[in-house]
Amino acid sequence: MTPSAETSRRVLLSGLGGLGISGALSACASTAPVTIAPSRPLFLAPAPLAPLRLDARLITRTTVCLRPFRAAGPRIEVEPVGDKRVVHNYGHGGSGWSLSWGSAAIAAAYAMQGGTREAAVIGCGAIGITTAITLQRAGAKVTIYASERLPESRSARASGMWTPDSRIADADKVDAAFPAVWERMARLSWARHQTYVGLPGEPVSFLDRYILADAAGPPKPPSAPERERKEIRFAIYPDALNDIVPRSRQLTAAEHPFPVASARRLTQMQFNVADLAERLTTEFLREGGRIETRTFHSPTELSTLPQPVIVNCTGYGARALFGDDSVVPVRGQIAWLPPQPEVRYSLYYNGVSVIPRPDGVGVQGLRGGDMLGYGDDDETPDRADAEAAIARAATLFDRPARA
Ligand SMILES: Cc1cc2nc3c(=O)[nH]c(=O)nc-3n(C[C@H](O)[C@H](O)[C@H](O)COP(=O)(O)OP(=O)(O)OC[C@H]3O[C@@H](n4cnc5c(N)ncnc54)[C@H](O)[C@@H]3O)c2cc1C
Repeated sequence: MTPSAETSRRVLLSGLGGLGISGALSACASTAPVTIAPSRPLFLAPAPLAPLRLDARLITRTTVCLRPFRAAGPRIEVEPVGDKRVVHNYGHGGSGWSLSWGSAAIAAAYAMQGGTREAAVIGCGAIGITTAITLQRAGAKVTIYASERLPESRSARASGMWTPDSRIADADKVDAAFPAVWERMARLSWARHQTYVGLPGEPVSFLDRYILADAAGPPKPPSAPERERKEIRFAIYPDALNDIVPRSRQLTAAEHPFPVASARRLTQMQFNVADLAERLTTEFLREGGRIETRTFHSPTELSTLPQPVIVNCTGYGARALFGDDSVVPVRGQIAWLPPQPEVRYSLYYNGVSVIPRPDGVGVQGLRGGDMLGYGDDDETPDRADAEAAIARAATLFDRPARA
């Protein structure tokens, strides 16, 4: 390790630089009463941050997932198919985990109309499992039919963050009611996810996230080729949840140890997908649910099921199963490094997102913005891209520390 890298790692490890932690400690040891002037804000020095080991030689796996994007937003509606009532619940783009419970509540309400006591759910990703549990709680006996169980589904390859308006729709293609429906889904989901916070295994937790940039001020406008590719104005609702979701804050140089010009911090909800998947599956089975491995090749095959009501939660699979070309793949890849339980923060820097989870440290290249991977259904891992993303983020830890 170079001396500068060593210095940088030491600064991150101590996290406090010259911020006066020893002063704070000696103040605690003093017997003299301490008075805090009411007009001065109480400033607590930041906790030390453990350094990330961003080294491509440590890659344990590279996962690829397709976001099921629909310009009009998720399809949640009833369609009669033969003698069955099919309730669609698919097309959640980059927000499937985040919006799962709210979307499930809307779909389950449609499914339960008419007093259904028995329902089938097709699909066992984030949307299928939460829909199945919601139906159970509404009093239905539920069977899930799916090609893959939750750990093998595309949902298991998500980064696992609260991203309720990530590639959720095209702002120019949604109907007038969509923002309100989206907000309802987001609020319901936010509340329900919190019932899993604080449980063993931390299926849902909150973690500080640092948005780091070398230049102060707003990000540079996209270069010409990037601009030309931006045909879609993705729907985002940055302020809609301000009353319930923690807001980000620009940090002063004294409040963080990173050697960059600009740092914002937000406290973000995170899904520890492996643990959450296990917990949700156990919950569903414990309540009497059944999971059957089965692949459907056309909607007519649904008539062979005994249940009168079927909720279609096939995600990107709906494109083939229901011939719905409005579902467009948006490819995303994550390179995984060995877990670092001592790292309790995530970050975004230099077009790379780094997320520590109990099952590994995920590194996701995001250069190209929300259009990255649009229309690409190739699920083959790209090793060179994974290594490039890790190298870009690693520069943060391999440069001289901020003085
Ligand atoms: C790189 C990446 C990172 C992401 N990060 C996040 C994030 O941080 N937060 C977030 O909220 N979202 C994130 N997403 C988006 C999220 O992964 C999706 O929105 C979500 O997985 C969609 O879930 P789903 O249940 O609809 O689909 P899937 O997980 O694809 O599940 C579909 C289910 O249907 C079954 N199925 C499909 N077709 C058939 C068939 N014909 N017959 C029988 N069964 C069938 C499958 O086997 C599977 O069980 C990310 C996506 C990517 C690509």
